Amino acid sequence: MKNLAILGSTGSIGQSTLSIVEQFPDRYSVAALAAGHNIDEAFAQAVRWHPRLVSMATEELAGELSARLRKAGVTGIEVAYGTEGTVACATLPEADFVVSAIVGVAGLEATHAAILSGKPIGLANKECMVAAGEILTAAARERNVPILPIDSEHNAVHQCLRVGAHSEVKTIWLTASGGPFRKLPLDQFASITPEQALKHPTWVMGRRITIDSATMLNKGLEIIEACRLFDVTPCQVRVTVHPQSTVHSLVEYVDGSILAQISVTDMRLPILYALAYPERPASTLTFDMAALSHLEFEQPDFERFPCLRLAFEAAEKGGAHCIALNAADEVAVEAFLERRIPFTGIPRTIEKVLASTTEAHPATIAGVLAADREARQTARALLA
Ligand code: MG
Repeated sequence: MKNLAILGSTGSIGQSTLSIVEQFPDRYSVAALAAGHNIDEAFAQAVRWHPRLVSMATEELAGELSARLRKAGVTGIEVAYGTEGTVACATLPEADFVVSAIVGVAGLEATHAAILSGKPIGLANKECMVAAGEILTAAARERNVPILPIDSEHNAVHQCLRVGAHSEVKTIWLTASGGPFRKLPLDQFASITPEQALKHPTWVMGRRITIDSATMLNKGLEIIEACRLFDVTPCQVRVTVHPQSTVHSLVEYVDGSILAQISVTDMRLPILYALAYPERPASTLTFDMAALSHLEFEQPDFERFPCLRLAFEAAEKGGAHCIALNAADEVAVEAFLERRIPFTGIPRTIEKVLASTTEAHPATIAGVLAADREARQTARALLA
């Protein structure tokens, strides 16, 4: 029996994780839930799963949850809040596996704390790996803590890497759907509206990640995530545009063999893989072979999607540049959604912030968070 701490329990990955727990009650139980602001969902989850600890974003929400639980006659659940509460969930002695699914750098400290306390991680938070991948992977290697990627592409790569040795890997091919603007003429990019950009062809996701898919910055973050997770250089990572999102990624070996992972487009599969690794439990997730009759792969267009080039450049420099890439993008996406800048303003803002970032490699999480704040300030000042 694996007792889980789920960081980001009310988000889509958190909810999918709980649906896996529901399906495999003899394998998984819930020790801790770190929710955010969604009090109704957090209350429902606490009542359903009865964890030892639940954490909310703020003290006020924690108070409200405690009151609701008391009123409902539910006892024995401790309620915490803020970063401290999330860290408490991640390091709870009863928890023996941590699902890290808080969006943004908010989950960084807790993920780091979980690794330091030796807990295996199911990682769905790519910003963690982008901003602090050098620190997190070093800590994990030192303590022999597995980090199992839940991001569909990296999960696919993890599966394909089980077939060969690290020294035999030539190229990691990350597939990208190409987003909704794969074929839009370049001269129309400046007039793309938030409504258009929020329509993703294959995955239903949060707002920022949907915009990041439209600019392909999401794939850029995944390039950096792949370098850190799998200990390869940016030259060993390439992107192929695959609109059907059927092949989740591929690994090319030095002998010329290419292995691909194919499955239904459903996040429950990578979640189950991460939770159960190295086992493969039987699931109800099946793939329709007819979907293989028409698959396309094409080169990404770096002119339409300058974010890809910026990500490769940041991956090459590492440290502060990766932090700045992620932070500047988050600020720019917000500005785009508020109609303060055009779609093409997103890569322009990132490029400017990167240009004013000095090369540095923060050695601590506090250093990473400071560099993150600095990059956000630079981006905000640029957009003011
Ligand atoms: Mg992905």
